[in-house]
Amino acid sequence: MATYDLVVIGTGPGGYVCAIRAAQLGMKVAVVEKNATLGGTCLNVGCMPSKALLYASEMFEEAEHSFAKMGVSVPAPKLDLPAMMNFKQQGIDGNVKGVEFLMKKNKIDVIPGKAKILGTGRIEVAGKDGKTLVVETKNIVIATGSDIARLKGIEIDEKRIVSSTGALSLDRVPGKLLIIGAGVIGLELGSVWHRLGAQVTVVEFLDRILPGMDGEVARQFQRLLEKQGFAFKLATKVTSVDASGKTLVAQVEPAAGGAVEKIEADVVLVCIGRIPYTEGLGLKEAGVAVDNRGRVQIDAHFATSLKGVYAIGDVVAGPMLAHKAEDEGVAVAEILAGQAGHVNYDVIPGVVYTTPEVSSVGKTEEELKQAGVAYTSGKFPFTANGRSKVNQTTDGFVKILADAKTDRVLGVHIVGREAGEMIHEAAVLMEFGGSAEDLARTCHAHPTRSEAVKEAALAVGKRAIHM
Ligand SMILES: Cc1cc2nc3c(=O)[nH]c(=O)nc-3n(C[C@H](O)[C@H](O)[C@H](O)COP(=O)(O)OP(=O)(O)OC[C@H]3O[C@@H](n4cnc5c(N)ncnc54)[C@H](O)[C@@H]3O)c2cc1C
Repeated sequence: MATYDLVVIGTGPGGYVCAIRAAQLGMKVAVVEKNATLGGTCLNVGCMPSKALLYASEMFEEAEHSFAKMGVSVPAPKLDLPAMMNFKQQGIDGNVKGVEFLMKKNKIDVIPGKAKILGTGRIEVAGKDGKTLVVETKNIVIATGSDIARLKGIEIDEKRIVSSTGALSLDRVPGKLLIIGAGVIGLELGSVWHRLGAQVTVVEFLDRILPGMDGEVARQFQRLLEKQGFAFKLATKVTSVDASGKTLVAQVEPAAGGAVEKIEADVVLVCIGRIPYTEGLGLKEAGVAVDNRGRVQIDAHFATSLKGVYAIGDVVAGPMLAHKAEDEGVAVAEILAGQAGHVNYDVIPGVVYTTPEVSSVGKTEEELKQAGVAYTSGKFPFTANGRSKVNQTTDGFVKILADAKTDRVLGVHIVGREAGEMIHEAAVLMEFGGSAEDLARTCHAHPTRSEAVKEAALAVGKRAIHM
């Protein structure tokens, strides 16, 4: 029996970051992990492997389509998929080892096995060998993350009908890939396989892609993906997938009902979202309340309904993003140490790591309209940005939404190359309650794509220089 100040269940970005911050603050900490490797969804089957494949497939596509026009003459690239998968695995291994190192460095015990909460201060861990261990601790943080959401009647075999996990490890490029769900993960993985040669069709129940993101951004992004060769069927639902033949046959129909259509595919990717993962945690018996969507209920200080038990990350409400989980991990560790841990949910950036990228922070136009907030909008296209012109990567724009009365920036939305890096100056500005004027008067290095952010801020005051 070991006694800790804190035991964190799960070692995804929420859990391992929470453990490190708590150790930094002087607590005796352990993490429990049921998987063979640390790092959770993010490092093993999420953010990291997808970004490795996005990068590798982007290079493949660049070599195929862009090198020649820049005067770089190379033979047509050939795909070595096993080598690309190996590249992905090396990236995963490197990051997983990094987390192992950080656990050691911060003197955090790693307890392998599946955790069950017995009550305040007590956890039972079932090891792979069938043995159980009871761990005593002053505090428990649930950071058990999320799992793939499934579609009724469509069985995922991770070979032909896959979730994101299977789509990260296909052993050949599918001729035809059908993606169910036009959210971030579907469009990222669709991009990977499209660049490698798959014909991609995306079926989405709603009448738009990227639900929750700014509508204008989503429309522009959809057009750009269509230009690349993506086919979209919006306001459409997949009702079944027949896997009896050599080719999969999906039955689709308008979301509102109507004529049935069949779509053939070699691989179907079910990507309709993720659900909180709490299986085997013993929440009900222990008295930890969950909401009607199965998310662990917490108060403003991440405390659950059971004394001494807290929860963070994908398993609680809010955007299912690694950096949101990390920030919550830091905040709860600081709260446990008597500090004022806090997460500003108004400034959590979101990024789609495609080409071009999409990034966003703060409110969308739709949200501002719905809330009745008077706002001004400044937009600047990359076609007018010098650096983008010389690199011939001019797709997309920056849009800044500012309060009409105070000029305070309320939302920033970018479609374009490197949008995922560019969003952070807006996030810092918004953390400080900055205005479009502040951004417009901040000197930006020339020539950079970030100058488009400054120009969009100038455009809020109708004084963009290069447009
Ligand atoms: C394909 C894909 C791409 C993604 N890309 C991005 C991206 O680019 N950017 C981004 O921000 N987010 C991305 N995400 C989302 C991101 O992975 C999650 O938001 C993030 O991992 C959540 O972190 P977490 O710590 O809450 O949980 P997780 O990372 O899910 O970790 C939970 C851990 O808890 C362990 N666990 C669960 N139950 C128990 C138990 N009872 N006992 C012991 N251990 C347990 C699990 O094994 C797991 O290791 C992506 C997700 C997917 C699937």
